[in-house]
Amino acid sequence: MAIFDKQLAIKKLTERNALLPCHRCGHKSFGIVDGVTSYSLIDDQNMIGSVMVGGPSLPVLHVFCENCGAVTSHSLGILELLPKDDENGK
Ligand SMILES: [Zn+2]
Repeated sequence: MAIFDKQLAIKKLTERNALLPCHRCGHKSFGIVDGVTSYSLIDDQNMIGSVMVGGPSLPVLHVFCENCGAVTSHSLGILELLPKDDENGK
């Protein structure tokens, strides 16, 4: 089972007018990457470069340009696409 619903993601991005052509090449066809990335969040500069286990995170999905491959990330939390048992992301 996918971590988020791609059709719902497209609906959410459309509702929020995330519809501009590629910021790199101007192409208008995009895809959504399978899976997500969860960025570890830190508020202490001494943690830069550390391996993080647990703690706060920012889960994002990635939209890619089908022409040049430029990738743009969108917060799952902002798009209301987080699984119901994971409300940690923003
Ligand atoms: Zn492009």
